[in-house]
Amino acid sequence: MSRYIEPSCKICRREGIKLFLKGSRCYGEKCAIERRNYPPGSHGHNKNKLTEYGVQLREKQKLRRMYGLTERQFERIFVDAAQRKGKTGDTLLSFLERRLDNVVYSLGFATSRSGARQLVNHGIILVNGKKVDIPSFLVKVGNVIELKESGKGNVHVQSSFSVKEKTGIPKWLELEPAAMRGTVKALPEKSDISLPVQEQLVVELYSK
Ligand code: SF4
Repeated sequence: MSRYIEPSCKICRREGIKLFLKGSRCYGEKCAIERRNYPPGSHGHNKNKLTEYGVQLREKQKLRRMYGLTERQFERIFVDAAQRKGKTGDTLLSFLERRLDNVVYSLGFATSRSGARQLVNHGIILVNGKKVDIPSFLVKVGNVIELKESGKGNVHVQSSFSVKEKTGIPKWLELEPAAMRGTVKALPEKSDISLPVQEQLVVELYSK
């Protein structure tokens, strides 16, 4: 399945916000949004007013790119969310947050979601003691997520913990830093997810 390969910082500049796609660089002065917060390309300074559809599309793109998903993957998650009871937007955010690659990122094992996906793909993430190498795996309450012994000494994993200290972890997760182990205390609710995205506009887009 094809994955979007445009440079990460260009994606942020197009959306006009930090999507935190490049790990520690996102927290420093080198962040492209800090230096050039206008869309890439020769017409980057021209600000045309977006249509209603355009606004909804941008919100969907922001959310999709934040989690590093293809159109098809994102649409599949949306369809699943729409079939559940409750507000579709809230369920969509909850499904995205519960993905194993996002949880690995949120616990600070990697500085970006793409880095976290690599850790999962390389088979060094354990859930309840068993290897899970599927980034889209949805964690449940009580799941214990940890690194294999072979991954604990990884220099990138170690340095990502220092980045995580600046941001903290979501309150629906619990981290034992010494053991490099996290536990899902509760399922994430809307109030636990602070993303600069209006998920209702995404729901409206797909409802057309
Ligand atoms: Fe986005 Fe990070 Fe690049 Fe800043 S450094 S523009 S937050 S990917």
